[in-house]
Amino acid sequence: MQVLNSKICSVCGHAFDVSRLDLPQLQPLPTDPHCSDCLKPIVKAQIEVFCAAVTPQTALSCGARRYARKGPLIEELDYYLDPDGKFVLTSWYLLKRGHCCQNGCRHCPYGFRP
Ligand SMILES: [Zn+2]
Repeated sequence: MQVLNSKICSVCGHAFDVSRLDLPQLQPLPTDPHCSDCLKPIVKAQIEVFCAAVTPQTALSCGARRYARKGPLIEELDYYLDPDGKFVLTSWYLLKRGHCCQNGCRHCPYGFRP
């Protein structure tokens, strides 16, 4: 199999396929090559800053919908498993979805309370 777009991560030194990186870019990201494992904490910190600034009044107009992607959810960014093993969607994911489902999600950014 031919690797077309392989680079070496400048942090961990592992080879990675650039075409597989599908992390949102809210702010400029490091220009030296980062594999997705090493890039994820940087993106996660940017997302946390973004989400911390969103209020129920701004949730629909915050601009997160432009980052919505088809494809599998990304652990730690779109969801996490809580200590009880429950699947919990993050406010980032709920903002990208762009509407409140009124199911009382733990991190509902729209201010819904059941
Ligand atoms: Zn790496």
